[in-house]
Amino acid sequence: MVGTLLAGEVFASSRPENKPLVVILMGPPGAGKGTHAGPLSETLSLPHISTGDLFRENIRAQTELGKKAKSYMDKGQLVPDELVIDMLFERVSKEDCKNGYILDGFPRTLAQAKSLDQRLNSHVRTLALNFNVADGKIIERVAGRIACKQCGRPYHLKFDPPKQAAVCDVCSGPLFQRDDDKEEIIRKRLEVYRAQTQPLIDYYAKQKGVLKEIDSDQRKEQVFHDVLEAVPSPALAK
Ligand code: AMP
Repeated sequence: MVGTLLAGEVFASSRPENKPLVVILMGPPGAGKGTHAGPLSETLSLPHISTGDLFRENIRAQTELGKKAKSYMDKGQLVPDELVIDMLFERVSKEDCKNGYILDGFPRTLAQAKSLDQRLNSHVRTLALNFNVADGKIIERVAGRIACKQCGRPYHLKFDPPKQAAVCDVCSGPLFQRDDDKEEIIRKRLEVYRAQTQPLIDYYAKQKGVLKEIDSDQRKEQVFHDVLEAVPSPALAK
């Protein structure tokens, strides 16, 4: 049963044909990709790879890539494809990705999706999960979210507050709000999402046939249950 699975008690070995599994988390900002990526990563024992986090690490480390990316991120725009694709491919070529990985925030354009396809050959199984949330809820969800600076654990001021204000429950690190989670930037990010990323839903549903819909307008526990149900695994099918 889904609910009795322990984190990390997984299925690398029971996955069909033992193929590496690449899970693509899709949906607008605030749909729950980041919230469920961590627990899913633990459950599947696959690394969670967020291109937004990779850019934020580069910004903190003041790399050239970070400087370039920041100018786009601050405006709620997408970072150009070639910068994202090179960074992502370098990350997924690491040893910890050999059984697969969970992508959060990539691909965001058709060009990114196609370059990912070229890289993933038929030995890889792909699953795209599309998190749906009512439009009216997105701003409230995103504007209230905060995360731990140290371990990245996400919180929400209203729906999932930390036990102690501004302190992470897990590692006691400080909590912060992303600059691009301010309301006016969120509106821009949503516009960009609709124009450039939403068309990928059709691509994964119709052309690739690997899309599953997740109703993200439910309790967090129920959403995660639905996510696990969508993952191809004999261990979960029972
Ligand atoms: P996220 O943390 O996924 O919300 O991403 C934050 C910001 O990083 C986005 O608004 C973009 O500016 C940039 N970014 C992250 N992933 C991508 C991507 N796959 N393509 C282009 N820009 C990206």
